[in-house]
Amino acid sequence: MDVIVVGGGIVGTSAAFHLARKGVSTALVDTAHLGQATAAGLGVIHPWPFPWDSGPVWDFKARAAEHYPELMAELARDGQATGYEVVGGMSVDLEGDDAGFDLIRTLSERPEFTTMGRVERLAPGEPRERFPLVPASYGGVFVPGMARLNAPAARAALFNAAEERGLRYFKGEARLSWNGHRVTGVRMGTEDLEAPTVVVAAGAWSAGLLAAAGVELPVRPVRGQVAHFALPGRDTRAWPVVRFGERGYYACAFGPDRVATSGTLEPEAGFDRRVTAASLLHNLSTALEVLPGLDEATVVETRVGFRPGTHDGRQLLGPVERLPGVVVATGLGGEGLTFGPFQGLVAARLAMGEDPGLDLAPFRPDRPAAPSFEEAHRTGQGPAGGEARRWESAPGRGE
Ligand SMILES: Cc1cc2nc3c(=O)[nH]c(=O)nc-3n(C[C@H](O)[C@H](O)[C@H](O)COP(=O)(O)OP(=O)(O)OC[C@H]3O[C@@H](n4cnc5c(N)ncnc54)[C@H](O)[C@@H]3O)c2cc1C
Repeated sequence: MDVIVVGGGIVGTSAAFHLARKGVSTALVDTAHLGQATAAGLGVIHPWPFPWDSGPVWDFKARAAEHYPELMAELARDGQATGYEVVGGMSVDLEGDDAGFDLIRTLSERPEFTTMGRVERLAPGEPRERFPLVPASYGGVFVPGMARLNAPAARAALFNAAEERGLRYFKGEARLSWNGHRVTGVRMGTEDLEAPTVVVAAGAWSAGLLAAAGVELPVRPVRGQVAHFALPGRDTRAWPVVRFGERGYYACAFGPDRVATSGTLEPEAGFDRRVTAASLLHNLSTALEVLPGLDEATVVETRVGFRPGTHDGRQLLGPVERLPGVVVATGLGGEGLTFGPFQGLVAARLAMGEDPGLDLAPFRPDRPAAPSFEEAHRTGQGPAGGEARRWESAPGRGE
């Protein structure tokens, strides 16, 4: 075996796919924990940088934006059902947000972001024509290139495409094996799997793997509970993703008649994967307040997952100085469905000894964990206050 990937969420399966398609002998080890973030994620895909991003963060996102549709098209050509649908996205508001419109339009006019499509301003009432649960008085902005992702389907597509190219799969809990100088593979129970390189893509659990090897990785679980509704008799397939601008709240429709709403942000919940009464109440009351048309909907399920959150809101991507043989790829918080496939590609390139052509210094997995995770959440620099809030946050109990 040349490379072992630990973790079968969207990041690990992407890394495994890119390795297998290059003919690298690869194994994927996954415990398939309940609470896998990929299985719970809402599915909003907005892979472009924000106008206020800069430097390596901008470069990473710009490359990811280019990569996303290419990867999904490649998987589709391969006969895989990717769960990726470019249905467009709206940011809606009671007041109309001219500043927001100008920023988005300026970004969409850059030659490298043509995949955003031609951004449109929507007059009051127009958002409702596209997503009939939006209150009639709301206007907004429409970005045609925004997409939704059925993440379990995308994960399966990456996994199946990798298996067809020779990936070997092991179900179980991996621990790193160490010969005193470098990592030599993983141990699962009493079985040893050997490889000179191990990609740690174990999401919120990644810290546990490295802690056993004496390295502190600044990633922690940020629980999210996502409510799913069905609207019997309505056809929701063409409904775009919608963001309620003034409160950063999302609704994402899936066919044939499903609507899911923003997940809670609960950084203090640890790995407790219960559906809790307070969060259920919060999810239902917020959904009905923002989208009153859901009052007659069927409550189908609540999905619970653990975002891999970091103390400073930046991902963890690259080698670890004290653990030769390891490449870490995690820490995307609430944006992992959007940037996880590209993060997996970069991890695969690093595992193959290739230069990914990006400045990864700000994402060093062993950068100092300051300020503390708790402090970062209080000051709004953490995953709950930073990247995640913009794209799938809700006024969660953790705030
Ligand atoms: C409620 C919620 C809503 C979200 N909404 C969005 C959204 O709309 N848009 C967006 O872009 N992102 C969203 N996200 C974020 C996104 O889902 C995550 O960032 C992304 O799925 C993380 O993927 P991952 O592969 O890093 O981790 P995971 O999907 O958690 O996968 C990690 C895997 O590693 C396995 N594992 C752990 N330890 C071991 C071990 N020792 N041995 C073997 N296997 C192990 C686990 O079992 C798991 O299968 C959301 C997340 C949540 C929770």
